[in-house]
Amino acid sequence: MIQIPKGTKDVLPSQVHKWQFVEKTARETAELFAFREIRTPVFEHTELFARGVGDTTDIVTKEMYTFLDKGNRSVTLKPEGTAGVARSFIENGMAGGVLPAKMYYLIPAFRYERPQAGRLREFHQFGVELYGAADPAADAETITLADLFLKKLGLKQVRLELNSIGCKHCRAKYNEALKEYFRPHLAEMCPDCNARFEKNPMRIIDCKEEGCRRFTAGAPRMLDYLCDDCKAHFEEVKALLARAGVAYEINPSIVRGLDYYSRTVFEFVTSAAGAQGTVCGGGRYDSLIEQMGEKPVPAVGFAAGMERLLMVMEAEGAPMPEPSGTVCYLAGMDGASRAKAFELATMLRAKGIACECDLMGRSVKAQFKYADKSGAKFVAVIGGSELEEGAVSLKNMATSSSEKVAFADLADYLSSNGAN
Ligand code: ATP
Ligand code: MG
Repeated sequence: MIQIPKGTKDVLPSQVHKWQFVEKTARETAELFAFREIRTPVFEHTELFARGVGDTTDIVTKEMYTFLDKGNRSVTLKPEGTAGVARSFIENGMAGGVLPAKMYYLIPAFRYERPQAGRLREFHQFGVELYGAADPAADAETITLADLFLKKLGLKQVRLELNSIGCKHCRAKYNEALKEYFRPHLAEMCPDCNARFEKNPMRIIDCKEEGCRRFTAGAPRMLDYLCDDCKAHFEEVKALLARAGVAYEINPSIVRGLDYYSRTVFEFVTSAAGAQGTVCGGGRYDSLIEQMGEKPVPAVGFAAGMERLLMVMEAEGAPMPEPSGTVCYLAGMDGASRAKAFELATMLRAKGIACECDLMGRSVKAQFKYADKSGAKFVAVIGGSELEEGAVSLKNMATSSSEKVAFADLADYLSSNGAN
């Protein structure tokens, strides 16, 4: 038997309503803030991610699903959403259009990681991207959107952690301070951190190895190195969050995994569902578009992991909608009444009423059993006498009461009673 690839998951029909609920909540929340959906390809030229995500990140150095297509071009399944949106922003000349450009996406993402709870090789993200606005209000609006989304999912134990990693100028000084601090410990630190030390020392703060964490705890804090502009920007973001009633904690060790971030960075975290506690991460990336060879355009955004959100919702016991059953099952006793059931089902569906009839040649008793299991609200029985009268015997499955309803009145009856 061929099995599902390691690190991937099926979403079965019995579970899919949970996904649909989270996806619907994501779309509705984004649209409340006037973000519009953008859809970009699942694969892109590999170079896009090397440039747009950054070639010192874990994603690019270790985790990409890269292969040669039949034309010998190197392509990569997208490991995150921002690079593709940035490419599209540039390619479609959006910088010359209406700004800010506010976009959201719901995508599968692919990373070659060691699979564990909340860490998959194919996973899903809801993300937003806001291009063109350098104002702290854009950071605050993006964070407020994520906060409202999580609240609408019923999550109560998720905390917002906030930091600023400054701009190129203040970070250069900070990186020097970090190098000075880490230099004496390098021999005891992991090979990745030794490489980070040369290329991007700030990334050491993000290391998950126990051996390195011992040293990162006492490292200099970026917040102490912010220039005046970055400091003022950060103060304003905090002030606006306070106005919006969004609670946050400052966490000076958040640096984010991707190279393009500047100034505001944030994560929504929880300990409700084990080790993979970051459900959403984001920040400002004013140098991304410039890094891709264009005139700079300020930007801010986030991405939330759908699998982790669902795990946390489960762990917190957040209310989840029930899967919706059909409104009506049409049970036929014999050949002629089955044909009538089929005809009525067609008519009901054309009027937008979800219904089913037997496809298995089952007895009426077995049809009832199936209807009950499938959660139908009503069962319409049709036999010889119903055919003669031109009416179904309609049983309300919740109350067990039955009444005759004329074929011609069935759609209206179900529309007015189907919802309860
Ligand atoms: P982590 O530190 O957990 O590896 P990350 O910094 O790599 O996270 P991002 O690139 O910021 O993650 O992605 C945004 C969100 O996507 C994460 O907060 C998380 O919820 C989710 N996510 C990232 N990688 C995975 C994965 N392999 N499986 C499931 N969800 C993931
Ligand atoms: Mg990661």
